[in-house]
Amino acid sequence: MPNKTLIIGAGGVGNVVAFKCAMNADTFGKITLASRTKSKCDAIAENVKAKTGVAIHTAQVDADSVEELVSLIRKVDADIVINVALPYQDLTIMDACAATQTDYLDTANYEHPDEAKFEYKEQWARDQLFREQHIMGLLGSGFDPGVTNVFVAYAQKHYFDEIHTIDILDCNAGDHGYPFATNFNPEINLREVSAKGRYWEEGQWIETEPMQIKQVWDYPEIGPKDSYLLYHEEMESLVKNIPHLKRIRFFMTFGESYLTHMKVLENVGMLGIEPVEHQGQQIVPIEFLKTLLPDPASLGPRTKGKTNIGVFVKGIKDGKAKTVYIYQVSDHEKCYEEVMSQAVSYTTGVPAMIGAKLMLEKKWYEEGVHNMEEFDPDPFMEELNTQGLPWQVMELEADATLEVESTLA
Ligand code: NDP
Repeated sequence: MPNKTLIIGAGGVGNVVAFKCAMNADTFGKITLASRTKSKCDAIAENVKAKTGVAIHTAQVDADSVEELVSLIRKVDADIVINVALPYQDLTIMDACAATQTDYLDTANYEHPDEAKFEYKEQWARDQLFREQHIMGLLGSGFDPGVTNVFVAYAQKHYFDEIHTIDILDCNAGDHGYPFATNFNPEINLREVSAKGRYWEEGQWIETEPMQIKQVWDYPEIGPKDSYLLYHEEMESLVKNIPHLKRIRFFMTFGESYLTHMKVLENVGMLGIEPVEHQGQQIVPIEFLKTLLPDPASLGPRTKGKTNIGVFVKGIKDGKAKTVYIYQVSDHEKCYEEVMSQAVSYTTGVPAMIGAKLMLEKKWYEEGVHNMEEFDPDPFMEELNTQGLPWQVMELEADATLEVESTLA
């Protein structure tokens, strides 16, 4: 019996997942793409058919409703649900999967709509339920989280006896030509970058002001870029799963113009998540801002340049200090050529497909709710090389660094 795959969410990432599942139709079998707006699913299905020759099915669903989800999962008779809607829908989709005994995968951890805070607590709390239902949930199978967790697991398996420090580096040197736009869902993106920074050192979380810590890292194939310390969700699980760790931080690149726009928007209250009254109507400022900004999906054909995301790891092997940078470089224009999406959606959608593929093939399979670094990294790393995200390993001198400048902004 061929597999049946249900993808939920027809945004930038959903587009890539639909393409990539169609390109691996032997594994994914009958593919259904469902989202709030069915016309978006139909448009993607049309492009997938034209480019790959594979017909995918489409459906409408409100993923905030467990009842609607359960009835769709039953109708599709899905073997796996790939959740690439928004982090707000993680819990409803997980509960619908539990009710129907269907495996689950997502790319971003649960975020409460009324609080700019994301954590794994509520998803991990479903571990027992998933075990009782004999199903698996794979959390955070995008690039970061996702591939970054797998890179750390690969470093641990092949390069280190003990990992002591990890710096996760996320560089997007793409240019879309707009004065201001976000590369993925603006609300999620702006909530992430306007939140306080946080890193973990010697067993403790240390909080910083938003964008307080700036370093310049020299990214292979791109060059030096201003990078800011942010909190990012993969640190929560890596701290739990990597023994001997002394420090973990996450840096993302931002240009000066982006940050100036952000500051102004923040100062005038446009990043607010509380409703305000405007001429008798309740409006959430950040939601209104999303309406004004370019749709991330529209950036695809305009974006030029590369991304470099990797993990800079220090530790010891056979008693000697060692440094390794494992990274992946993508080219926005090449991604668009292949699946009609820029690299940010591409680098998220491809790992989502790979995670689901390994689950369906039972190469990565364990009942309960799991993070990426808990599994053998090798099959995932092999798939990355053949599915469009080839990676590199730089072995460096023990005291080497790619950090060229460090300042407190
Ligand atoms: P988009 O906003 O482009 O797409 C989200 C899609 O979900 C839209 O099609 C939207 O429908 C749909 N959706 C939203 N709410 C509902 C609902 N209640 N019911 C059904 N469908 C709904 O986001 P992206 O594609 O950029 O991102 C998708 C996910 O990927 C997000 O969770 C994001 O956080 C994550 N991500 C993860 C990354 C990683 O590396 N791990 C990196 C980038 C993103 P509609 O079109 O009607 O609005």
